[in-house]
Amino acid sequence: MEVIGIDLGTTYSAAAAVDGDGQPRILVNRDGERLTPSVVLFENPDGVLVGTMARRSAASRPGDCVQFVKRRMGGAAPVHVGADGREYRAEEVSALLLRRLAEDAGAALGRPVTDVVITVPAYFDDARRTATLDAGRLAGLTVHRLVNEPTAAAVDHGTGSGADGVYFVYDLGGGTFDATVLRVTDGDYEVIATDGDRDLGGIDFDNLLIGYLATRIIEQGGPDVTGDPALAAELRERCEAARLRLSTDDLAPVRLTVRGRTYAFQVTRTEFEDLSAGLLYRTELLIESVMDEAQLSWRDVDHVLLVGGCTRMPMVRELLARLTHRTPEPGVHPDEAVALGAAVIAASLTEPHPTVTVTDVTSQALGTIALDGDTGRLTNYVIIPRNSPVPCRYEETFVTVQPRQSRLHASVTEGDDADPDHVAVLHRSVLDLPPGLPDEAPIRVVMSYDADGVAHVETFDATHDRSLGTVALDRPANLDGDRFAAGRAALAHLGVR
Ligand code: ADP
Ligand code: MG
Repeated sequence: MEVIGIDLGTTYSAAAAVDGDGQPRILVNRDGERLTPSVVLFENPDGVLVGTMARRSAASRPGDCVQFVKRRMGGAAPVHVGADGREYRAEEVSALLLRRLAEDAGAALGRPVTDVVITVPAYFDDARRTATLDAGRLAGLTVHRLVNEPTAAAVDHGTGSGADGVYFVYDLGGGTFDATVLRVTDGDYEVIATDGDRDLGGIDFDNLLIGYLATRIIEQGGPDVTGDPALAAELRERCEAARLRLSTDDLAPVRLTVRGRTYAFQVTRTEFEDLSAGLLYRTELLIESVMDEAQLSWRDVDHVLLVGGCTRMPMVRELLARLTHRTPEPGVHPDEAVALGAAVIAASLTEPHPTVTVTDVTSQALGTIALDGDTGRLTNYVIIPRNSPVPCRYEETFVTVQPRQSRLHASVTEGDDADPDHVAVLHRSVLDLPPGLPDEAPIRVVMSYDADGVAHVETFDATHDRSLGTVALDRPANLDGDRFAAGRAALAHLGVR
């Protein structure tokens, strides 16, 4: 069995496999490209178009086109409604992308591809991870492992260079940002701290430029082009092209024809950088907080890796040079490192003596809501802190608050904040307590993550050391069995080209 690596990106995806000579290589798609745009065009009732051809249709057929679906993984809302009225969820659209990537990879390798490793942002919570696993299964693939993208990038660099030490990975892609610190020792990749923002990427830089130019069109007496889907899609294309150009040039022209009148602008790099200073600053804040959590200073960092297409923007390189006083590793390919590293990890899964081992951390804190005895307020108590190595098991003891208390409100939360309003409540239930408990009876809450990053919670009556029940985290946003079967059936009817 051979397992390949897939980088399922917000804007671009890539597949890679380790060659006979032990080197990871990008597998070129059917259009001859190394990257496949993560765009699905619902062409007709029988089929979808994926990739560059679909992307080209985004402007002319915005209603049939689905982009940036990764941002919506783990959500229950449909991301597309077909001409026949069928609603598609994010994992179903991702399954169509995966099917295309696997078919193309199979064509490149000359044998069918069924076994994959898929990369996900390190900060993906387990609803988003489950959605990604479901997408793989919907595509008919066996997903051997979900690997964190920064870890994959580090593996690509580490296996290529053989360099040990502390790695800092800055990944600014099309739709998401993350920052990760790893320690690499002799083929072991241990994540120390990671954080990210799933709403911060190239699209957001484009949106600023779109907003800016749309306003200038209005100022010149034109209509609000953002209200017209076709014009808005056209302006988005022009703005992205201009942004790419500003990575190498000081000036980029943008032209848009609206109802017979052409609006022409010249955007300077300085103008664009001023516009986007706030977005860049958000990455800076996240970087500093990740370094704090890792309890490291920049002096401790040996290698800085820049991945994600948006790290080609000069202001990103300047920011990192200023903060880290390091030159980013030159050999890292911003678009390909993640897929290449995923291929190395995929290949090592089937080796009798793996040369690469990966230790990941939890990206989200898990906790529970209880009454704070001092303030009398409901408070979120973190039980598994963020950045705990997985697998892990933590416990915390609480006490009952009323004499002869017979029931307990149990909850499982995701997030760091002490304020229950600022965390996600994954689960709520009411537990019956056995009669005859003393006042302030101890209640023990045990939370664990297994090796797959799936969370388990069990509550104990500590007086009698008896379990009060195990909580299966309900993820209403994830597919249940029926919806999964329906999804498979619907996708089976769709041809992918
Ligand atoms: P993702 O992993 O989120 O799919 P990628 O890492 O492939 O994203 O990066 C895609 C993003 O990189 C897009 O927003 C694209 O506009 C941007 N990008 C690609 N090349 C450049 C460039 N030369 N300058 C600025 N941005 C770029
Ligand atoms: Mg990426």
